Amino acid sequence: MSAPILSTRGLTKRFRGLTAMSDVDIDVPAGSICSLIGPNGAGKSTFFNLVTGYVAPSAGSIVFAGRRIDGMPTDTINRLGIGRAFQISKPFPGLSVRDNVRVGALFGADGDRDPDAVTEDAMTLAGLAGHRDAAASSLTVGFLRRLELARAIATRPRLLLADEPCAGLNPSETAEIVDILRRVRARGLTVLLVEHDMRAVMEVSDHVFVLEAGRKIAEGPPQRIARDPAVIAAYLGTDAEDPG
Ligand code: ADP
Ligand code: MG
Repeated sequence: MSAPILSTRGLTKRFRGLTAMSDVDIDVPAGSICSLIGPNGAGKSTFFNLVTGYVAPSAGSIVFAGRRIDGMPTDTINRLGIGRAFQISKPFPGLSVRDNVRVGALFGADGDRDPDAVTEDAMTLAGLAGHRDAAASSLTVGFLRRLELARAIATRPRLLLADEPCAGLNPSETAEIVDILRRVRARGLTVLLVEHDMRAVMEVSDHVFVLEAGRKIAEGPPQRIARDPAVIAAYLGTDAEDPG
């Protein structure tokens, strides 16, 4: 595996009395697709919030591309090359697909590439080229996810964080998202995915990190993680406790 593009050491986050993340060491190899999994409340979103600067760590370090980023503001972190695709896309509904993606291109712009070319490229990668003139408000949930990925890609990240891009999608929509993630990686981007769709995780990931109650309980290639007794117990325990 190549050198990590993202490394955390002892990453810890306390919210008043609650420890949402505890002493987490994670290395995401450059050029890989990694997944972060774990039951609800495990700390997956907190990890993304820490890495993107939405919340500051209580302890520990975050190094991105050789530079300490913990404590930096979100827009600085984004400009350094970390993009985030949210689960709930909030496009400008009256704008076309192209103009929504262009917002990402302009936000990430640092003068070295034409925003229109960046926009076209991001739409092509996300399978939206045939929908460039559609109003965002007319898109199905599957296409909204593509739009959210395209917007994040257009900010020109080196590391793309994708928060449950397959949630609520049918198998063919999910397969399309998996293809998009692979195309993104083929461009040299690194992808870190939070995803509940285990089939997608197993199919697309080079390496999987498992969180439970804010701690990393396992990591490894997907085939090994699927058979890991601690991982199985974490998921079964949650199901057994959750009457829903
Ligand atoms: P996941 O995304 O894995 O479901 P989260 O990272 O959202 O888990 O949450 C981990 C824990 O941290 C949960 O107990 C959650 O209630 C708590 N938490 C997350 N964000 C905050 C916050 N801003 N304030 C207080 N508690 C939080
Ligand atoms: Mg979450």
